[in-house]
Amino acid sequence: MGGEPYDLAIVGGGINGTGIAADAAGRGLKVVLFERGDLAEGTSSASSKLIHGGLRYLEHGEFRLVREALLEREVLLARAPHLIHPLRFIIPHTTGMRPRALTRLGLFLYDHLAARRRVPGSAAVDLKRDPAGRPLTPTIAAGFSYYDCAVDDARLVVLLAVDAAARGARIVTRAPVTRATRREGLWEVTSDTAAGPTSIAARVLVNAAGPWCTEVARLAGDATAPALRLVRGAHIVVPRIAGADDAYLLQNDDGRIVFVLPFEERFTLIGTTEVSVGSAADGFVASEAETDYLLAATARFFAHPPSRADVVWRFAGVRPLVEDGARSASAISRDYRLDLDEIDDGPPLLNVIGGKITTFRRLAEAALDRLAAFFPGMGPPWTAAAPLPGGAFGGSDFAGYCEDLVRRHPAIARETLQGLARRYGTRADEVIGDAAEDADLGAAIGSELTAREVIYLRDAEWARTPDDVLWRRTKAGLHIGALQIDTARQHIAEVLASP
Ligand SMILES: Cc1cc2nc3c(=O)[nH]c(=O)nc-3n(C[C@H](O)[C@H](O)[C@H](O)COP(=O)(O)OP(=O)(O)OC[C@H]3O[C@@H](n4cnc5c(N)ncnc54)[C@H](O)[C@@H]3O)c2cc1C
Repeated sequence: MGGEPYDLAIVGGGINGTGIAADAAGRGLKVVLFERGDLAEGTSSASSKLIHGGLRYLEHGEFRLVREALLEREVLLARAPHLIHPLRFIIPHTTGMRPRALTRLGLFLYDHLAARRRVPGSAAVDLKRDPAGRPLTPTIAAGFSYYDCAVDDARLVVLLAVDAAARGARIVTRAPVTRATRREGLWEVTSDTAAGPTSIAARVLVNAAGPWCTEVARLAGDATAPALRLVRGAHIVVPRIAGADDAYLLQNDDGRIVFVLPFEERFTLIGTTEVSVGSAADGFVASEAETDYLLAATARFFAHPPSRADVVWRFAGVRPLVEDGARSASAISRDYRLDLDEIDDGPPLLNVIGGKITTFRRLAEAALDRLAAFFPGMGPPWTAAAPLPGGAFGGSDFAGYCEDLVRRHPAIARETLQGLARRYGTRADEVIGDAAEDADLGAAIGSELTAREVIYLRDAEWARTPDDVLWRRTKAGLHIGALQIDTARQHIAEVLASP
């Protein structure tokens, strides 16, 4: 071990671990974060990719959570306007659904539970006239619209890690924590890295292992770790359903909600299911039955629904929900819980349970509040107003920055520049570096991905394998498609291994 101990050792590089790391580092704490695989390799890359209040949680009386999440929509939209954007949702109305008056009441609450500045409110829509009605079955004549926001979940996690590192945190990926023991007032935390097991000392251990929270708590000697209900949620991706450029919230005939979302310019993302699973290991593959369920739900509403042959990608993740005895998975609270485990004045363990992508910032603040007594010199909360890396556009806005980037690089393809701006915000300038024309960006790997971007991802964003690049740092894997993916993988592996 040796050296000054860390203040915080965080286990888990998902949204919650990286969110806490960034907040804590910005308050002056000495932080190390261990992620077993790649950043966002767990649930945080398998979400519906919405920064949302969660309209349907109102039915379960989750007013606190919905209000907090609605407020966060505004905060996050301001912090990372390159990565997060408002999306219009359509709720088509047909017979047999929740009564119209109930939907209207829900939307009224959604509009008014928290102040809105950047996100528009709800309205009734005539789907015979509004373009959003065109892809739907002709019998659907009316509905409602409201707004939430879309985000690239995995990139948000990486951005938080970049932010944390810029503020002094050490981020260690491919380093599963295998042992954590209390010793002489400190935690001794051992992780298995490529170079073999290494140990560090820390004053506080934060368990942000998501669906693996119970395992990590036990590994740290916490036998009273809270019970989790693990609920798998699957998504499928199909080529964009013609005309479906808005998002749709469908009320399925079993009462569940299915989202149909515009995704990555050319695709439609459909999710999600709710299947209880015994362990996190069972949670990351979407089953045939889930694929059929999502296709059937879509077919109830769309005139030309996708078929099984159209599915180009599917993924699943596990909601780590706090077991509260609710019978159905839909009814379990999506709120988070923070459990502080202190034994005989030994160093504390903070278990982070549940949460949403949307509420990571508030969760991080609440976590540091719980730990304030251990760090009397810690700085005040700061994250509400600080842009995330790449998210400060000075006197301009995101559109203005894109235009300026295109103007400054006339010999680089506009689509390449726009893709870089969306992924990196103002950090696109760092990726481009001294490149003056397309050829300077190195070999084109497929889609808009170039060798220079892969090297940037390796050097600045912890990308180590082709899949880190293809599916989490970018969605190039989707654009490249199944036929070319093996060649792209090979090419990326060579670039990652280059000096
Ligand atoms: C289907 C689905 C849809 C969702 N949609 C939305 C949505 O649209 N909007 C929203 O706000 N929220 C959504 N959520 C909720 C959100 O995705 C999760 O609450 C959130 O991602 C959980 O993040 P986390 O950091 O707690 O867990 P994770 O992202 O799973 O991170 C935990 C990390 O810990 C690591 N780890 C585990 N054990 C160890 C160890 N021993 N050593 C080191 N590392 C370890 C794992 O590899 C993992 O990366 C959705 C969830 C699901 C499942």
